Order: sequence, then structure tokens, then C-alpha cells
Amino acid sequence: MHTHDPALTDLVVAALRDRLLHAPTLNHPGVPDKLDKALAGVIGPEGNDPAEVLRLWAEQLAPTAIAVDSPRFLSFVPAAPTQAAALFDMLVSCSSIQGVSWLLASGPITAENQVLRLLADLAGLPGEAGGCFVSGGSAGNLSALVTARDTARHRRGIGPYDRVRFAVSDQAHSSIGNTLRIIGAEPFVVPTADHRLTGPALRAALLADPDPSDVIGVTATAGTTNAGIIDDLAGMAAVARDFDLWFHVDGAYGGAGLLAPSVRDRYRGIEHADSLVIDPHKWLFAPLDCAALLYRDPRLARAAHTQDASYLDALHTEDATQWNPSDYAHHLSRRARGLPLWFSLAVHGTRAYGEAIEKALTLARETAALIRNTPHLELIREPELSAVLFRRTGWTAGDYADWSARLLAGQTAFVAPTGWEGETVARFAFLHPQTTLEMVEEIIGTIA
Ligand SMILES: *Cc1c(COP(=O)(O)O)cnc(C)c1O
Repeated sequence: MHTHDPALTDLVVAALRDRLLHAPTLNHPGVPDKLDKALAGVIGPEGNDPAEVLRLWAEQLAPTAIAVDSPRFLSFVPAAPTQAAALFDMLVSCSSIQGVSWLLASGPITAENQVLRLLADLAGLPGEAGGCFVSGGSAGNLSALVTARDTARHRRGIGPYDRVRFAVSDQAHSSIGNTLRIIGAEPFVVPTADHRLTGPALRAALLADPDPSDVIGVTATAGTTNAGIIDDLAGMAAVARDFDLWFHVDGAYGGAGLLAPSVRDRYRGIEHADSLVIDPHKWLFAPLDCAALLYRDPRLARAAHTQDASYLDALHTEDATQWNPSDYAHHLSRRARGLPLWFSLAVHGTRAYGEAIEKALTLARETAALIRNTPHLELIREPELSAVLFRRTGWTAGDYADWSARLLAGQTAFVAPTGWEGETVARFAFLHPQTTLEMVEEIIGTIA
């Protein structure tokens, strides 16, 4: 099993080449019975011919994986890894890099930290800022708010069973709600005007609360998942300072906009973040699974997350230049998942990234204009980033679902409906730089 097999290598590399060479088809969801039948008996005491197993993969399994990197995938938040990033990811996998600690992966960690530094500079965080790459925005939000909670407990002398709350808007990502449940904190929900959390609204809510002293932090969203709305970061940062709150910014989807000149100024205030999450596997064109987690003061994260055990002593030194990514999040062993982005950034430069991000922003604006000029369609709001919400007048939830299913069945596009103020509506999430206005016109043309 551990001896090089040239035939096996050729087989798999040919499949990789094929996947990279062709624009992916959208594919169709699988049928459980058919999948079970296809896989029956494949794992037993004896092995199989690798060509047969690979054929099973190619014919039965791969076609049921919806291609989130298709330019016609416009649901949720798409992905669009660069070729350089996807290829380098395979090298990372084959290299068995244990990204847990400086001792085991100093060069790879230095390269990952170079990317984190770039993101910190884009956000305007101080020179000491740092963190690590984790599996996704959810993992980043969890690790950041654990640090926020432990820091507040320590500084304010809060006991382990005392109530703590985080200010959030009703537009915060679902992972924030999950995080609060996991860490035993409660949401302090601040009402939003037009779905955007502002400094004045946060201040008013805190002042109206009989005892806001157990509110220890606030989470802002820099690009809501549904509508791409960026909270009033500068206003919220000022209130966070006045009330001594940890200021967390969830830029999992929207943080990439820091690289786009046309929207850069909307992030004013992000430089005050105590912690910040940006998902490269979304709009920074890295393969899944990759999220950047940054702290203004990484020492606080270290105090919250460093694991202590005799068998780990060799990893920890007093030398602060020896960066251990495992100290900054809830994880220990980790793949060096920042490296594919590092390689692609080094190959292409940051300008190409900015231009690719601007493409989706431009397409969102053009699509909004197209919708405004189409009689039976209504634009729900001007897109702030690359998500566009609209309705077909008179349509029910069932009509949107039927339309979405027809589009996927015909492989025209994957456009899942979403909810907005209690109503089912249509939504485009643009991200892939190869999604064109012609594709959008074709999709809109299917709305009768
Ligand atoms: C996608 C998203 C998340 C969750 O990120 P995962 O990588 O899916 O875990 C969190 N917050 C926002 C705003 C997001 O768009």
C-alpha cells in the first residue's frame, strides 16, 4: 500500500487533469437507492482493481456532486478555486504537512502567516495581529468568540457559570447563534433598520437594557450571507470601545471585498476589530476548506486555546517568533490549508484577485439594472456586494422551487430560492469570475 505504483498514479493524475481541463457540469443530486447499490460490496476483505474503483467514482459518485465551482452555480455562496490553488492543494495533501506547530512546519507556517499578514494589512489591523487558518467561517467564529468570552471572564472576574451575552443582529450568520449555544453565551439581539446593524442602534439597545454589564462583545457582519449587507463597522467599533466590548467582525463571505476598490470604503471601522474571519474558500478563490482567523492581540487567543499536555511540551517554547497555529483556535492537528491561497497569490499577485472580485461586483450591478428593467421582476434592494435579491411578481414559494428545479434539471443554472422578510424570493450569489451577463440573461429569460 505504501509503495509507489506508477499505474495508480497515472490513473489518478489523469482524472485530476480531466477535472481541471473542463468547465465542470453542474450535475444532479443522486438517488439514495441507486447510490447504495453502486457502492454495495466495494469494501471487503479483498481489494479491487483501482481502475474499476475510479470508474465507479467517475460514473456513479462524481456526477452527484453539484459543482459549486461552476460559473452557473449561483446559490448559497459559490466557490471558484484558481487552477494554481487547486493544484497546489494536491501537493499539500501529498506532502503530509502537520501544520500544528512551528517545530513541525516552520516554512509552511511562515507562508501561511504571510497571507494572514496580507489580510491583516488590508483590514488595517496592527503589526502584532495574527492567527491561523481553520476549516471554515463557523470554526473561525467559534474560536474567536471563545477567546472573547475567556478574555472577558479574566478581565472582569466573571465566573464560569455567570451569564454572558454577545450583541448580535438578527442578520448574523447561523454559525454565530450556534457558537453562542456551544459556549453557553446568550444573544443580545439588536434590532436593525433595513437589516444593517448600526452603532446608534447598538448604543440605544445597550442603554435601554436594565443591566447591560453582562454584554461582553458584539459581532458585526461584513457582508451578510443572504443580501451582502455590511454593518456599520465604524459606528459599532465606537460603541464597542465605550462599553468595553469585544468587537468581532464576521467577513466570511464579504471580507474579500477589502481587495476591491469599488467597495473598499464600506469596510471603514474594520481596523478596530478584535477578531476577524474571512473565508478564502469563498471569495478568495481557494479550495475548500479554508478560513482565515485573525486577532488584534493574538496573546489573548493563545491564553484561551493553547492545549497543555506533557506530550505537547516539545512544541512550546518561550520564543514568540515560533508560531504555533494550534494555539489560536479550537484544533490541534491541522492541514496547512492556507498554502493553496499562498501559492496562488504568489503566482498571480493581488491585483488579479482584486480584478476577479470586481467582476462579480460589476455583474451584480448589471443584473440589478436588468431586473429593474424587466416588467414582471422587482429588485428587492440595491446590491451592496455580489448577492442580488429579487422577486417575480405573483409567484408563490412553490413557483420559485419549481423554477429552481427546472433550471438545475436543464443544467442552465443552480439558483436556490431564499427567504426575505418572511417571503420566498429569488437570489443570485455571484462569485465566479467566469459567470457572464449572458448567462444571467438566459436564466432571467426562463422566468415566464
Ligand atoms: C459562509 C458564512 C459563514 C460560515 O462559513 P463556513 O465556512 O461555511 O463555516 C459564516 N458567516 C458568514 C457571514 C458566511 O457567509
